Amino acid sequence: VDSAEIIAVGTELLTPIRLDTNSLWLTGELADLGITVRAKHVVGDDRADLAAAVRQSLDRVDLVMTTGGLGPTHDDITREVVAEILERPLVEDAGVLEGIRERFARRRRPMPEINRRQAMVPVGGLVLANAHGTAPGLWLEANGRVIVLLPGPPRELQPMFSRHVRPKLADRSAPSRTSRRVVLVAGRAESQVAEAVEPLQARFRDRPDPVAMTILASPGRIELHLRATGADGSAREAALEAAAAAVVEVLGAAVVSTDGQSLEAVVGQRLADRGWTIAVAESCTGGLVTGLLTDVPGSSAWVRGGVVAYANTVKVDQLGVDAGTLAAEGAVSEAVARAMAEGVRARLEADVGLAITGIAGPGGGTPDKPVGTVAIALSGPREVARTFHFGGDRQMVRQFSTAAALDMVRRAIDPT
Ligand code: ATP
Ligand code: MG
Repeated sequence: VDSAEIIAVGTELLTPIRLDTNSLWLTGELADLGITVRAKHVVGDDRADLAAAVRQSLDRVDLVMTTGGLGPTHDDITREVVAEILERPLVEDAGVLEGIRERFARRRRPMPEINRRQAMVPVGGLVLANAHGTAPGLWLEANGRVIVLLPGPPRELQPMFSRHVRPKLADRSAPSRTSRRVVLVAGRAESQVAEAVEPLQARFRDRPDPVAMTILASPGRIELHLRATGADGSAREAALEAAAAAVVEVLGAAVVSTDGQSLEAVVGQRLADRGWTIAVAESCTGGLVTGLLTDVPGSSAWVRGGVVAYANTVKVDQLGVDAGTLAAEGAVSEAVARAMAEGVRARLEADVGLAITGIAGPGGGTPDKPVGTVAIALSGPREVARTFHFGGDRQMVRQFSTAAALDMVRRAIDPT
């Protein structure tokens, strides 16, 4: 198996309400296995459209994967359409039926009769167990082609692929010739990073195991995607290691991680290493920073809490910011950010206090403090206060602010 097409099935995927993320995820997994995805398709829950897509894909590539449409309702048609194309009659599988019954029994509910449809298996098909839902997946082979049917919900599809499909595909594809690594950078503009790493590009390319580098920027965070190619896996790893080290050399402390760890995870790690806790006072970010900090598993060990201090009265009453300072300096000022950081640290009894106050826009800017002006302060291990001038719309300013605040904490706590 070396080429694949992915067909995402679901009428909702053809509307603005839902994006096909399954094929994105699968493309990464297949690339890992050295299988090239030649095309991705999105089709609605329509028999003729799906049949046409499957037929065309079977003509072009040796692996066709579908996602979605394996459920029990009448608009879930993938199983039937594929069985028809392969001319395989559908037969009820007693084992699958029992599994579905048990799943309902565990929830103390009778199995609705329509779920029986999910126990229908095309003759010769291999059933892929679904640990997180009722719809089993299917692996089929015909005329030298492999056809894999996977359920739509990502939390069902991903473990099913990893557990049952990936090992089978690995057996049938040439050993992978690429390895990847992501270097995460914060606190630098994309152009700065691009300029700094530019001289490395040629060096990486000319290695015996060449490493290609792509830059992916989002507000406040820049990812350098490194991809090494070569026949030998450990040589590729060594090439990635050397490339990551070279990036660290030119970017220094701006490098957050070289192993795929997120900014918030690195901050959490550094706090955990010291046994420190953090409390956050947020104005223009409205809780985004605390949200990200608590995204990290285990964060209850280092996050004390946060105060969304949007109104001036909340800054005064809940955080103890001096009303005089507020009036004199304005809500968006280093003095107020500093007072917010101190206040939240003291009142929430944390080791580190972090505060963000700014103008996200579109309104509220002045010639003095235009939209994008954001003051961020840290209290505790070090006293830091800084004013940033971010570009972009409201959403971007909030994201830049969030990343900059987390990065301020990261830089203030040296790695152990
Ligand atoms: P179910 O038994 O849950 O009905 P199914 O295999 O029939 O599973 P669908 O009904 O097609 O799957 O989709 C169920 C849900 O899974 C969708 O509402 C959507 O939230 C999600 N989903 C489906 N396809 C995709 C996709 N390609 N990318 C991301 N999410 C998807
Ligand atoms: Mg469904």
